Amino acid sequence: MTRIVVLGGSFGGLTASFELKRLLGGRAEITVVSDLDEFVFIPSLPWLSLGWRSAKDITIPLKEILEPKGIIFRHEEVKGVDADSSKVILGSGGLPYDYLVIATGPALAFGEVPGLGPDGGHTECIFTLPLAERAKKAWDRFLENPGPMAVGSVQGASCFGPPYEYAFEIDAELRRRKIRHKVPMHFITSEPYIGHFGIGGFGASKRWLEDEFAERDIKILANRAVEEFTPGEVKLKDGTKIPFKLAMFAPAMKGVPAVAHLGNPRGFIPVDERMRHKTHKNVFVVGVAVAIAPPEPTPIPTGVPKTGFMTVRMALAAARTIASEIRGTAMPGPYEMNVLCLMDMGTTAAYMSAKPLLPPRQETTLKKALWARWMKMAFERYFLFKMKHGLSNWP
Ligand SMILES: Cc1cc2nc3c(=O)[nH]c(=O)nc-3n(C[C@H](O)[C@H](O)[C@H](O)COP(=O)(O)OP(=O)(O)OC[C@H]3O[C@@H](n4cnc5c(N)ncnc54)[C@H](O)[C@@H]3O)c2cc1C
Repeated sequence: MTRIVVLGGSFGGLTASFELKRLLGGRAEITVVSDLDEFVFIPSLPWLSLGWRSAKDITIPLKEILEPKGIIFRHEEVKGVDADSSKVILGSGGLPYDYLVIATGPALAFGEVPGLGPDGGHTECIFTLPLAERAKKAWDRFLENPGPMAVGSVQGASCFGPPYEYAFEIDAELRRRKIRHKVPMHFITSEPYIGHFGIGGFGASKRWLEDEFAERDIKILANRAVEEFTPGEVKLKDGTKIPFKLAMFAPAMKGVPAVAHLGNPRGFIPVDERMRHKTHKNVFVVGVAVAIAPPEPTPIPTGVPKTGFMTVRMALAAARTIASEIRGTAMPGPYEMNVLCLMDMGTTAAYMSAKPLLPPRQETTLKKALWARWMKMAFERYFLFKMKHGLSNWP
């Protein structure tokens, strides 16, 4: 029986393992290894950090969803991968594989900017469940005695959407509480212009976001790098100093240490159009762990975001390629790098899509509408249902 090991139990790892099981049934032994024992619907973490969701609303225990499907779950941290001898290194020993799918996501590189991050630094982050829960506590304290806020992304960041969502949601929540006038807000970003998102923008996203932020009285500082965060202040490399009582900044990302040696200097792993590693032909990589070159150099370094939508498509491409190789059937089509994104704006939302992800593009859509917000809320429920029942082939 073919042994397939999947590293990570999130968007990439879960989708890949369910799809492999669906296509291969008893022909393969599939093992998922994750250091987290639950699936977290990460796109809802900004909501959780404001008290709009609780952890139980957006998590599912992995054992409960994998084992009934006949997928082995190992709740362990991967220490490394020996790709030459096709073995995953775990604390409990070696785990051999015939095929490996790496879906380990990012390591958050707080250490690259002095004072960044909640551990030993002065900013909050909403990128993981524990961090978002901590940011919620900081938000509760802030509400008792509000003051200036700074939100944004530091140099080298790539996941630009969440700080925009957070800024819009904070604005909406403060207005709901009738205390917006007590909170001067700055949005500080390494993007060359607002709405660039690391992908050269979505249609008219620059002008559109400038207007949306102007209407909300959120001051924009784009194309900026951060020198350091000190308690209550962010100092930019151009000398500007912005005070804050609460700051939330997206850090740069790197590949996780256990698999970084298979990739580029930042630990992201280059793959071909079916998500196969360039050298190790039985290794596939999906999601944030993949290396994608930026479309253009930017004055302050930025990276390309790898969204959940993209991750699911990559996982399906990898799983279908592996399954057709094992079954000896025709290869599926390659992964097409398109993106569809629903950006919450607190009281409304934006629907954005780009085909392909990087310019020049065939199609770009950017629409602000209340239905986009309903769609985002419905998608959260739908995706959790889909993962709970292993329905990887549902759209
Ligand atoms: C706040 C936020 C909001 C977002 N909103 C959206 C959105 O609205 N729409 C959208 O499309 N995308 C969104 N994204 C992006 C989306 O969450 C990611 O694209 C997606 O999570 C990537 O999935 P992944 O499987 O590649 O990695 P991850 O989700 O990061 O999962 C990696 C998994 O690997 C495990 N792992 C890592 N290292 C090890 C190890 N050494 N051993 C064992 N296990 C390990 C981790 O515990 C984790 O479970 C958002 C991201 C953030 C941070």
